[in-house]
Amino acid sequence: MSTVHTDIVTPAGKVYEGDVHMVCVRSKSGELGILPHHLPIVAPLDIALVRLKHEDEKIVDYVAVHGGFIQVSRNSITILSEAAEKKADIDVERAKRAKAEAEEQLSTLHETSDGYAEAMLKLKRSELRLSTAAIDDAVPEA
Ligand code: ATP
Repeated sequence: MSTVHTDIVTPAGKVYEGDVHMVCVRSKSGELGILPHHLPIVAPLDIALVRLKHEDEKIVDYVAVHGGFIQVSRNSITILSEAAEKKADIDVERAKRAKAEAEEQLSTLHETSDGYAEAMLKLKRSELRLSTAAIDDAVPEA
């Protein structure tokens, strides 16, 4: 089985680096599963879980990626995002606080109000952090 070199990079630095067998992301136009030697692409990403599967399919790394882009070139993948966290680096209490703050803001705002879209994004980020942190490593996702 071959591998593809994958980096996840944010303004704060490199969050992930590894040689993996498959990278699963959610692009704005749907789910993508990228294997080694994939054709070159650039695609915008949703706020969503990125799964990095190793050659032994039982080993999967999970990274919460909060939008950005994926670039696939000559057997290398780069994900660039404003923010991303490996499952183990997620501060669950902080994410719970951020979720409560976002919900509190949304409860006082109308869809057309200033700040609504920003509060929705904060809610999505907090929910992704919480769902990523809660993944059971013993049961890799399909
Ligand atoms: P908060 O209100 O907690 O800052 P946020 O969604 O507004 O939440 P971001 O602006 O997305 O935070 O992130 C700012 C920085 O803090 C990024 O580097 C991000 O990776 C990090 N970060 C945010 N929340 C967490 C968390 N729960 N655990 C670990 N790192 C986090």
